Amino acid sequence: MLVKNPKFVISAVKPEQYPVSDLLEVAFAGRSNAGKSSLINALVNRKRLAYSGSTQGMTRQINFYDLDGELMFVDLPGYGYAAVSKDQKALWGKVVEGYLNVRPQLYMVLLLLDVRRDPSADDLLMYRWIREAELEHAIVLTKCDKLSRMKCRERAGEIRRAMSLPPEVNIFPVSSTDRTGLEALWEAIDTAVSD
Ligand code: GDP
Repeated sequence: MLVKNPKFVISAVKPEQYPVSDLLEVAFAGRSNAGKSSLINALVNRKRLAYSGSTQGMTRQINFYDLDGELMFVDLPGYGYAAVSKDQKALWGKVVEGYLNVRPQLYMVLLLLDVRRDPSADDLLMYRWIREAELEHAIVLTKCDKLSRMKCRERAGEIRRAMSLPPEVNIFPVSSTDRTGLEALWEAIDTAVSD
């Protein structure tokens, strides 16, 4: 999809605050710094539509972006900050798991992982929630410009094994910096939502 006019809609925490809309939604999940905002911006060709508010710990809100009235991108709160308290973590869980389970128009979840890091316990938990909610999903390996193409492929295999990903779950290596893999990712999103 070639996005012409992406718009921020709302930041929400509770389901009552989610936008009233019948657009299909593609959600982006991942730990803080995984490259979520950069990827959303790169996919819609904007510099600062999405921004990470991760400096103060966890971003707790779910941000909704309307893409030309055709599709909604949903930026889920990042996780994995060491300084976060148990209460904050529980709140994050409630916000994210709540959204995954109550949003009928949620069509696909992309789980972002930094290609250089092994999946954390939080990444595995996130992946479990996505599977338990029986949502269409794929893994996106970010920052692939930091590694050679071959090394990136190797990492994809290692991460597939570490997460016990079944063969039908696709892994998309991307770079928001040099735009590697973005076309393939858009194709997968388009195919999923037009099915
Ligand atoms: P978020 O917290 O998941 O939203 O992560 P950001 O998008 O803010 O990215 C975290 C850091 O990684 C920032 O310093 C980005 O500039 C950097 N980053 C994100 N994507 C890429 C990428 O594709 N390549 C490189 N080299 N750096 C990236």
